[in-house]
Amino acid sequence: MVIKPKVRGFVCVTAHPAGCAAHVNEWIDYVKAKGPLKNGPKKVLVIGSSTGYGLASRIGAAFGSGAATIGVFFERPSEPDKTATPGWYNTAAFTAAAQKAGLYAKNFNGDAFSDQLKTDVLATIKRDLGQVDLVVYSLASPRRTHPKTGVTHKSALRPVGQSYTNKTVDTDKGLVSSITIEPASSAEILDTSAVMGGEDWEMWINALDEAKLLAPGATSVAYSYIGPEVTWPIYKNGTIGLAKNDLERAAKAINATLKAHGYGRAFISVNKALVTQASSAIPVVPLYISILYKIMKAKGTHEGCMEQIDRLYRTQMFGGTGLEFDAAGRVRIDDWEMRPEIQAEVNKLWPQVTTENLAQHTDIAGYRSEFLKLFGFGIPGIDYEKDIAPHVEMPA
Ligand code: NAD
Repeated sequence: MVIKPKVRGFVCVTAHPAGCAAHVNEWIDYVKAKGPLKNGPKKVLVIGSSTGYGLASRIGAAFGSGAATIGVFFERPSEPDKTATPGWYNTAAFTAAAQKAGLYAKNFNGDAFSDQLKTDVLATIKRDLGQVDLVVYSLASPRRTHPKTGVTHKSALRPVGQSYTNKTVDTDKGLVSSITIEPASSAEILDTSAVMGGEDWEMWINALDEAKLLAPGATSVAYSYIGPEVTWPIYKNGTIGLAKNDLERAAKAINATLKAHGYGRAFISVNKALVTQASSAIPVVPLYISILYKIMKAKGTHEGCMEQIDRLYRTQMFGGTGLEFDAAGRVRIDDWEMRPEIQAEVNKLWPQVTTENLAQHTDIAGYRSEFLKLFGFGIPGIDYEKDIAPHVEMPA
């Protein structure tokens, strides 16, 4: 069938298998062109490995330092007449490329929050790898069924304490409008922390530790975001920010566990705001990203997920100066985004942006093309008029 994008609000309900594969191969080529990652990880578990920062983390480890990787993700597989979610196609393309390069790559498509999936992954690590030396925790999920209570928690992206009014953009229609978001209830605050906080990361590390599957010196990293003051009511100080505070609490607890056992360390890397399926669902943030892209591209400092993770690996985790922590103990790979001169320009442009001048003051075109790229559309060299089978088998 001929597969075209069908955008519904902040999601695209179709994905292009060849386009997703080409996108993955672009990232692989980027890492390969940078040359081998000396002292890189060798046996890696990535939780949330099929898109965005997790996919980049997997590619960086596999094609940077020849790592064996196990990926955990939650994607809708393709059917003979129905497209998959992009993470399915991404993972199929990654796995094919890894196998071709002689690299071990195993996949678990299921609920990372469940006990069963953890048990299955642990058994495979034990059987195939013995231990892992890097665990990347890169989940972004709207809900979590708690494995002990059976309760399903749904995250809510809301301010805390008071309502928040600001500009937002409908990225599909190009309309800038004012949005007011009512504050979260106390239940929503707790639910969002249950989904996006650190408890599940701790459960993974504790399970790996108890099963003795963490190699000496093992590292674990989870990703967070802080961003500019203009988004703080909805991000840093909102329900998601409180959940991220809980992730930071978990990082300290996990770090203590790893250290106590003579293993390694755990930490949070604060990453740059980028177009991903997760970030496009947050009100106000897409407008900020459109402005940010314009400024950072003009300055030549723009990076995507792959560039961010490659820099994290090469300059901090496995090379360069080693890990550099901020006052709160986090690694800041959002440093270029947060440079004062970049943020001063954001602050200058923010009040000026309207529907009429959106294309002039922001990189809305770049936002849209990055968004479509997440689903495999708009990739040079792909013939989107051509018939293509939507069904792609996951390589075993
Ligand atoms: P994403 O939506 O691209 O990826 C989410 C991943 O989680 C996918 O692999 C998905 O399959 C997986 N997943 C979701 N629910 C799952 C479940 N129940 N079981 C197994 N897998 C599941 O998201 P992203 O933007 O790359 O976010 C990853 C992390 O990076 C998050 O912690 C996010 O807060 C953080 N981060 C994102 C940004 C940004 O701007 N996108 C910036 C800084 C930090």
